[in-house]
Order: sequence, then C-alpha cells, then structure tokens
Amino acid sequence: MAERRALVTGGAGFIGSHLTEKLLERGYTVHVIDDLSTGRLENIAHLEADEKFTYTVDTVLDSALMAKLIAQCDTVFHLAAAVGVEYVIENQLKSIQINLGGTEVVLEHATREKKKVVLFSTSEIYGKSEAVPFKEDDDRILGPTTLTRWSYAVTKAVDEIMALAYSREKDLAVVIVRCFNTCGPRQTGQYGMVLPRLVTQALAGKPITVYGDGRQTRCFASVFDVVEGIVTLAECDDAVGEIMNIGSNIEVTIGDLARKVKDLTSSSSPIEHIPYDKAYGKGFEDMMRRVPDLTRIKSLIGYEPRRSLDDIVNSVINHLKQ
Ligand code: UDP
Repeated sequence: MAERRALVTGGAGFIGSHLTEKLLERGYTVHVIDDLSTGRLENIAHLEADEKFTYTVDTVLDSALMAKLIAQCDTVFHLAAAVGVEYVIENQLKSIQINLGGTEVVLEHATREKKKVVLFSTSEIYGKSEAVPFKEDDDRILGPTTLTRWSYAVTKAVDEIMALAYSREKDLAVVIVRCFNTCGPRQTGQYGMVLPRLVTQALAGKPITVYGDGRQTRCFASVFDVVEGIVTLAECDDAVGEIMNIGSNIEVTIGDLARKVKDLTSSSSPIEHIPYDKAYGKGFEDMMRRVPDLTRIKSLIGYEPRRSLDDIVNSVINHLKQ
C-alpha cells in the first residue's frame, strides 16, 4: 500500500496525541504541529522513537510553515484550537484569533495543494438548544455576543461554514466532525473539563465541585472510541463534504458523575455545589442537556461507542494517579 501521510495540528493535545497514536498504529507517517498553548510534549514523548513520527513546535498561524507541512502530507487533521470552557472565557481574543485564523490557513493551503482536511468541530455548536438528541442539520441556539462562552461556538461555526464554502467553491475534500465531551487519559482539568477535574479533586481529598444543581447532563465518550471513528471517517470517501456528530449518546447527570467519581476513587471528598456565577462569572449560561444523534455516523461507518462510562472514569483515574 502507498505511504499515507498525516499532518495533525494540535497533535500534542489530549485528543490529538491519541489520534496520532492511532494513525501510527494504522501505518501512517505522522507529523504533528503544536504551539503547546494547551498541548504538552509529554503527551507525545513516547512516540519519538517511532521513525514515522516527527513534530514541530510552532503555531498554525505561520502560513509559510503550514504551506510546507501541508505540501508534505495527504490528510490534515486540524485540531489546533482554543479548547475548554474556562480557557476560552479567560483567553477570549486569543481563542478567536487561533480558531478563525488557524483554520483559514489550513483550508487555504489544503485547497491549493489538493489535500484532504478533517476539521474538528464541537457539540458546543448546538448551544443551548433543548431539542436533544442533536442532529447535524438542527437549528442552533446561542446566547448574546456579550457572554464570552458563546464566542467559542461562533468561531467553530464560522470554521465549519468556511470549510463548506471551500468544499463547494474550490473543491476541497473536507470531513467535519463535531466531538461531544470526549474523555480519557491525558485530559487535564486545568481548562475546565469536568471529568479530569472531579477526579483530581477526589484523589486529592478536596471537595468535588458540581456547578449548579448538578442535574445538567452530558454524554461522555472514550477518546479511544472517538479516534478510531475519526480515522475510519478520514478513509471513507462518502464522508467527504459531510458533518458528523461523534461521541457517546448515553446521558449522565453531572451530580451522578460526581458520585461515580467519588465511588470509583473511594474518596472521602465531600460533593460541593457551586453556583454558576461563582464558577464562571456573572450571567454564565449552561446547557441542561447535551446528547448527540449518532444515526449519520453509524450508517456511514458503523460507528458505535464501545467503552462504558465506568471504563472511561477508571482510565482517567489511572492516568491521574500516575
Ligand atoms: N462542571 C462542574 N464542575 C466542574 C467543571 C464543570 O459541575 O468543576 C460542569 C459544567 O458546568 C457543565 C459540565 O460540568 O455543566 C460539563 O462541563 P465541561 O466544561 O467539561 O464541558 P461542556 O460540556 O460544558 O463543554
């Protein structure tokens, strides 16, 4: 089989590093570019011995560099972006610049070089819509521009729209994936993500912080299921031009998640409820339920999340114990 070459932007991040591992496992040659804003070299250090793996520490905003890296690959997996509700709230301007500017650089060079792009989007796109489960073509409901949370969803929506426009007008081969609450080893709670944060608190014997009344729900997917699905999608001709939800559709309340974390870590930490305003600042808006409709990806590639919530929580516990 001909050599398959991937460029993974944001490849030193949580999902990016697992994706890189999966691509190497499937025989790809992989180059990672990461500016280490939230990514970490320790996430990819174990891959350095692999002769099919190389990396560059730099920003995707460097257009000349990206032109060179994209020319050397067949598929760009574009994950480099500002992530995490707290990170985005604290770094709003930087998040907008990287999420819009970085994607434009990737789409432009990939179009010129006739390379495929797998664009990583997010369930945040659906905003506070209550019409669960969310289908890819559903309406989106976002709060006002003055609430920083929503700027992440807006930039990611513009990324998607830009990618679709390149695909329609300039024949770019693009696959768009909307990830729903993906979890596993190497994810950190530092930027807001609930599961590693609660596990870190439980292991340290500190209060387990549940925001609001804890009745809001999420569906947590294993990063191992997600990266398998994404590599399969990247190789599927029928996925080109499509937008796909990916994740798990098994719903859990954050209150129940906190109790599960406490049980599985055998922690004596109390579960503490914190008002949203105190956690994120005044006027913060959360969504009460977030569930993907997975019909499209299932019919296209037979995707089915396989790992259970207990497996996911245990994988995070084991990682954070180390
Ligand atoms: N959350 C929480 N405690 C924390 C961090 C987050 O209760 O320490 C809640 C958060 O308010 C949200 C859910 O957990 O309702 C998931 O938050 P996360 O930031 O992980 O992702 P989101 O799904 O909101 O993008």
